[in-house]
Amino acid sequence: MGRMKRVLITLGVIPFLLLGLPPLSAAVEKAEFVYLNGNIYTANDQNPRASAMAIKDGKFIYVGSHPNIRDYIGKTTRVFDLRGKTVLPGLIDSHLHFSAIGELKMKLNLFWKPKKEILDLVAVAYQKTRKGEWIEGFGWNQEVWDPPAFPTKEDLDKVAPDLPVYLVRTDGHAAWVNSRALELAGLSKSTLNPQGGEITRDSRGEPTGVLTDSAMALLSRKIPPVSKQKIVEALELAQEELLSNGLTSGQDAGCDLEMIDTLKSLYESGRFYVRLYERLAVPENSSTLSDEFFAKGIQVGLYQNRLTIRGIKIFIDGALGSRGAFMLKPYSDRPDRYLGNQRITEERLYALVKRAREAGFQVSAHAIGDAANRMALNVYEKVLSQKPDRNHRYRIEHAQVAALEDIPRFARLGVIPSMQTVHATSDMNMAEKRIGPERLKGAYAWRKFLDSGSVIANGTDAPVELLNPFHGLYAAVTRQDRNGLPRGGWYPEERMTREEALKSYTLWAAHAAFEEGMKGSIQAGKLADFVVIDRDYMNCRESEIKEIRVLQTVLGGKVVYPVNQISR
Ligand SMILES: [Zn+2]
Repeated sequence: MGRMKRVLITLGVIPFLLLGLPPLSAAVEKAEFVYLNGNIYTANDQNPRASAMAIKDGKFIYVGSHPNIRDYIGKTTRVFDLRGKTVLPGLIDSHLHFSAIGELKMKLNLFWKPKKEILDLVAVAYQKTRKGEWIEGFGWNQEVWDPPAFPTKEDLDKVAPDLPVYLVRTDGHAAWVNSRALELAGLSKSTLNPQGGEITRDSRGEPTGVLTDSAMALLSRKIPPVSKQKIVEALELAQEELLSNGLTSGQDAGCDLEMIDTLKSLYESGRFYVRLYERLAVPENSSTLSDEFFAKGIQVGLYQNRLTIRGIKIFIDGALGSRGAFMLKPYSDRPDRYLGNQRITEERLYALVKRAREAGFQVSAHAIGDAANRMALNVYEKVLSQKPDRNHRYRIEHAQVAALEDIPRFARLGVIPSMQTVHATSDMNMAEKRIGPERLKGAYAWRKFLDSGSVIANGTDAPVELLNPFHGLYAAVTRQDRNGLPRGGWYPEERMTREEALKSYTLWAAHAAFEEGMKGSIQAGKLADFVVIDRDYMNCRESEIKEIRVLQTVLGGKVVYPVNQISR
């Protein structure tokens, strides 16, 4: 009460100074929560800045700077003084792998580690792993090693001779395995490459221990399934990770029906808050899609707008780092005129998009290479020309390398590029080698997309990248890595403004999930999702954007981070 009185006294003086302003309304409804004295960036163009917010029933009922905000304060209203702190809309990551974020915490974390250190970690894990179990890890990247060459099974055989090892590359598109794992999966010289994947081989045709894209499944399907209890644990860890990073919503880039059931049981338990937009992953290499997959139809806004299942996710190709991105012309740094991995035929993609459309599902196609992007655009265009739909919101996930003439087609067709700004600065050295300077003009080309009329949905692809959205905002604005390199930014002409970057993580991300009517900006009528941060995003030094810390995350009016405040 003391704080509320203080706030009211301060406010009491202001009306004299602003005499003549009309009251908000004769008798406004009373709010549950009122926040005052904030530096609020709303992401709403009509009202981009505000100092006060009133909240009732999980939604904003007033956002603005009018001194009569006090009209919303009733006897039971809780009033908080933000003391000038900056507030942003609840951030939305439009491409992440929700359960994998939690599962990573239970596997060997190999991100940014030198090869020697990774082998030491496997050696330690080997001592603790029982017969019948696998040693699993995630995050290696040969690009940070010296020399930057793919590893081999022999490296792993030395530290784990008789237990299978399965280590996924940082991009999720390659696996490094040992001889025991290859043996268990029955992979040998005589195994053919599957469509859309490669078993890397030595000069004699022997598998070397690296599998890309659909070849990974030949082996991963032999790994015993994770227990239900472990999965629940992973999901809870993932939720914690989102909320503590200021993310109130996540758009999951692929899950299965079983995961939906698990998520539902968690929401029903009352321990789950985070808002998820789920896209069902189309199983690879299955020629027909089960009816069960589409049978339930889309499910929108379950558990008070916390869970929506409305999309499908299809892989067209792999990733640039493991040379699995499907390119129109050969890679610049592989001598055999290699074009990458095409993981689906155009015919099958067309059939899937059509089927999804009949069932009312949005389509998200993973496309990294210029050939994959063109294929997605061609198929979308064909389906849309047969039956126009202004509100399809088809997406291309990553849209990482596009032919210059294809970029305007996104806006023309209404296809949303879902891009991860952190990828540009993580990939920059590698990308230059893979595709050369000419094709780079259409790579990570945010400005070209924006100028041609597209909006960009931003995200991280976590756990491929760290989930921290301020790293993404920083990369969007600077085109620099977190060491501030290169100075002046990598192809800086593709930068976003701070306003655009914020929208890519809020309003535009919401649009990519049909949710801009209820989230993505701080605005009366929308869900009261917001984040209080420790510095002024719009006015701090550029280099500070990556250092921004989350002080509080509020979802539907309730504080969900820090955790000890959840019950408030
Ligand atoms: Zn992904």
